[in-house]
Amino acid sequence: MSEAVNYFDEVREVVLEMGGQDITLCKQCGLCSGSCPWGRMEKESPFSIRQMIYMGRLGLDGYESDDILFACTTCGQCVVRCPRGVNIINVVRAMRSVLCETGGIPKNLKAVLGSINSNSNPWSQDSEKRTSWTQGLDIPTFNGEQEYLLFVCCTSAFDGRSQKIARAIATTLQKAGVSFGIIGNEEKCCGEAVRKIGAEEEFTNLAEANIELFNGKGVKKIITTSPHCYWTFKNEYPEFGGEFEVIHYTELYAQLLKDGKIKPAKGLDKKVIYHEPCYLGRHSKVFEAPREIITSIPDVQFMEFDKIKDDSMCCSGGGARIWMETEAGMRFSDVKAQEAMDKEADYLVTACPYCIVMLEDSLKNIDKDEKMAVKDLSELIADSME
Ligand code: SF4
Repeated sequence: MSEAVNYFDEVREVVLEMGGQDITLCKQCGLCSGSCPWGRMEKESPFSIRQMIYMGRLGLDGYESDDILFACTTCGQCVVRCPRGVNIINVVRAMRSVLCETGGIPKNLKAVLGSINSNSNPWSQDSEKRTSWTQGLDIPTFNGEQEYLLFVCCTSAFDGRSQKIARAIATTLQKAGVSFGIIGNEEKCCGEAVRKIGAEEEFTNLAEANIELFNGKGVKKIITTSPHCYWTFKNEYPEFGGEFEVIHYTELYAQLLKDGKIKPAKGLDKKVIYHEPCYLGRHSKVFEAPREIITSIPDVQFMEFDKIKDDSMCCSGGGARIWMETEAGMRFSDVKAQEAMDKEADYLVTACPYCIVMLEDSLKNIDKDEKMAVKDLSELIADSME
């Protein structure tokens, strides 16, 4: 008995050491669970973030399922609501790191980590093909002379649909006269989802390799195509010595619009609704730039979801959930796609490669992919500049 008590005490200590110190602040009021999107699903979910935090305090005593802790998408809705200021995402990450150490993570995520270790990207793609998205374009290589490094997220580097986003961003930046280059095949995944899985060692390896690469090439400023890379470079790389000025492409576009360097000319004649990516909106507070970009396009009827900005509902692709299966009736993105349909939008627009994957899947799930299109903001601007 005393051995068991010691074991859970030790696990609790590891959770605290790995960044979960806030478990001691929690008063178990349950406001976090009340705001969690899992509670808004058609089917009842066994996931309770309040219970997970309680379990963390017990050193994971009573934790039975390998997968339930991985239900959290790290959307941050609970963090906004918590009256005690508990950094719930860090708590989840710390608990996951305990499970990760013992191999107790879902099998899809084991495959993601395997791909990270062998290919430096989570999509099981050959790292030598990282620049295949540039085919037919003349994209300069970063040589230390340009103002920005354009860092293309692994999803937009390798996935055929998502490559259109990388191409739209790069060509628009060229038209706007932005000084930038890409590094390409030597880059590794930013590691955002890897750290959310709890794989601290793998994340550290990625971060240190990228920082060494960027510093070696003379990178000072980085444009990211994904809010996930943006958040990680900005908030997590500094603790490993990576100090870069990081900007998401929507922030740069908003500035280029003001400077008259991006001039949307062609009207779209579409009803457009904006889905807020969690890591751009709630996590990074970039709320206005995407809206300024959409409303700068002629003939756009701009619409909003019922809950926006800090209250916006997640697509469910964060926290490494993009690699996990979610049964029908439990998918957040299905709810968002249906709301966009109910509002009769023509385009469901966002600014994140993960959101694009999740929302496009959902339109197919609800059999509405013929009626509405999912677009990245960069594609809207590219279309309007043609
Ligand atoms: Fe604990 Fe905060 Fe959740 Fe309340 S809202 S149960 S204090 S984490």
